[in-house]
Amino acid sequence: MTIKPILIVPDRRLTQTSQPVSAFDASLTALIDDLRDTLIDCDNGIGLAAPQIGVLLRVFALRIGPDEQEVSPPTIFINPAITHHDEQTETAQEGCLSIPDTFIDITRPQSIQLSYTDEHNQPQSCSARGLFARCLQHENDHLNGVLLLHRLSPLKRRLAVRKVQKSLKPKKNGRPSPK
Ligand SMILES: [Zn+2]
Repeated sequence: MTIKPILIVPDRRLTQTSQPVSAFDASLTALIDDLRDTLIDCDNGIGLAAPQIGVLLRVFALRIGPDEQEVSPPTIFINPAITHHDEQTETAQEGCLSIPDTFIDITRPQSIQLSYTDEHNQPQSCSARGLFARCLQHENDHLNGVLLLHRLSPLKRRLAVRKVQKSLKPKKNGRPSPK
């Protein structure tokens, strides 16, 4: 069991495009284990994408299912592709493990169709709506180097990054902030 450190903005790896998985080998199995262990270790995390632990491959783990209930272990999505999205959109607040203590209103299609490969190298597809669809789109954005911050104006983005950096600074007594 390996819990990996989660990269925090403005780490450059978070804004790069991840590569498709081409080999279902031991290194992919290790990545899947790391994603699951790291996500389970985060009390408030619903999803985690490979670039968030520094691996630029198109893989993410999600802790909720179509019924918005928790799934255990988290589901693994490999080489996902959104094949259809609803014209109708919905706005809701989103947070991100790579942008601590920040919540941003994001407008997204209400429902999507997603095709992907599962961890057993089987092709899958699913229809998603509501929170499940929102989480799939959020994690899929990570694979394209797109963060919540990219949906803000440049000024608001700089302020948000500064706020995160400030919150991560150790306190005067040398102990890290409890947040
Ligand atoms: Zn995120």
